[in-house]
Amino acid sequence: MIKYKLICKDCNNIFDSWFSNSKEYEKLKKRKYLNCHFCDSKKVEKTLMAPNVLNSLETKKKDINKIKEIKSKLREFKKFIKDNFQYVGDNFAREARSIHYEPKKKNKAIYGKASRKEIEDLKQEGIKTEEFPWIEDKEN
Ligand SMILES: [Zn+2]
Repeated sequence: MIKYKLICKDCNNIFDSWFSNSKEYEKLKKRKYLNCHFCDSKKVEKTLMAPNVLNSLETKKKDINKIKEIKSKLREFKKFIKDNFQYVGDNFAREARSIHYEPKKKNKAIYGKASRKEIEDLKQEGIKTEEFPWIEDKEN
């Protein structure tokens, strides 16, 4: 038996599911037998856990350097966002709508948190958002 953490792309919930092996997971997924324990959506996927990814790379020096390089780029990017955008926290979806529907706010730039569902809703209303990985300052 093998346990996977599955994530639902609709409600963003993560839950554990048991399979006899990795092939069974692929088979069930292909036949659309997998569904979310919370909202019944079929858009569930295995979560990628960073530590496992790192282990499988056998932590080669060049990989580590590459990761450091990417992290430093992300940190630069984060600084740029912080300097130029206004942080709205969990109100991202609401703020994004108010900018979209009120022309005099058009030049306001914001960043914040939103769930997968909120991003999808915004997209359907014609509001484009960008997603990017956010690293915490305490990480090296
Ligand atoms: Zn769900």
